[in-house]
Amino acid sequence: MAVELFTRQEFERALPGARLVGCHGHEYVYAVGTSHPRVSIRVHSSVNVRTGRADGTGENSIRMYLYLEDAGRSLGKDGTEYTTRVKGWQARLGDKIAALRARVRKCPECGGVGIVRAVRKEGPNRGRRFWSCVDRGCWGGWVEK
Ligand SMILES: [Zn+2]
Repeated sequence: MAVELFTRQEFERALPGARLVGCHGHEYVYAVGTSHPRVSIRVHSSVNVRTGRADGTGENSIRMYLYLEDAGRSLGKDGTEYTTRVKGWQARLGDKIAALRARVRKCPECGGVGIVRAVRKEGPNRGRRFWSCVDRGCWGGWVEK
């Protein structure tokens, strides 16, 4: 399926409430909020700052990740999602944003930033998801289902 060459305006319509935070390379980057005031979701739009349109070349996806605003850094691979730019990208983008939002909460122990991560270590729990806190490493329990 062909990549859709959407405009900046079309991208912004698909991402209500987003604010433009700058550029990365030649693409516009946006931020949308989560339930935690210290965490946003950064969205790399693939819209070229020169042309105002999504780049037609390559297989670039729309990349989005959880971002810790006060530390100025992403929350790592665990918090990164991609959406391809073929037909239907707007709905898939909305679903991915909702899924990222669902992985953030206030840490019930210390009030810091709690996020869902997956166990990476080899063993019976590999891939299992759990809550933990990025501030103090508080354990928030397994995410069942
Ligand atoms: Zn905590």
